[in-house]
Amino acid sequence: MAQPLEGLIRSLPDYPKKGIIFRDITTLLQSPSGFRQAVDEMVQPFAGSGIGCVAGIEARGFILGGAVAHQLSVGFVAIRKKGKLPWQTLSVEYELEYGSDEVEIHTDSFEPGQKVLIVDDLIATGGTACAAVQLVRQAGAEVVGASFVIDLPDLGGREKLAAMDVPVRTLISFEGG
Ligand code: AMP
Repeated sequence: MAQPLEGLIRSLPDYPKKGIIFRDITTLLQSPSGFRQAVDEMVQPFAGSGIGCVAGIEARGFILGGAVAHQLSVGFVAIRKKGKLPWQTLSVEYELEYGSDEVEIHTDSFEPGQKVLIVDDLIATGGTACAAVQLVRQAGAEVVGASFVIDLPDLGGREKLAAMDVPVRTLISFEGG
């Protein structure tokens, strides 16, 4: 039976720095029924969309994305922080509140036009997810959607993905940053 997943998220005020409430999904992952429900709900709107591959964003997106890929019986591709992938890469740099970050993907990750679902634990400003969408598109695949456990709607990430024509699935939302 479906349970409210919100109660399985641990919220840590002022972590990793003052003013941030860190939304910790490790407590959700520890729950056998919570983990299964989260994966089922992340997949649900995209079942029957012909998804051929899941792309998970480092690092919590690997755990959820691997499970989502297994559920859909498709392969998994890692979107990693700069300098971690061993083969030829494409990279996209994106702005953070202070400074910038860069994510990479292997050039040969997808079949041309393959339908891809992007997965991460949380969408905040959307910077990371938008960079992931650009990478998947540059690698020649089609982004069918993006699925997250948590949305921080006040930070506007969902709208940024919508502006890139990416349907977004989130399971829980928390007000504030
Ligand atoms: P953004 O690029 O701003 O959408 O940030 C999303 C990425 O940062 C995700 O990979 C999240 O895991 C992480 N993140 C951002 N804010 C939080 C938060 N409040 N709690 C936990 N993780 C966060």
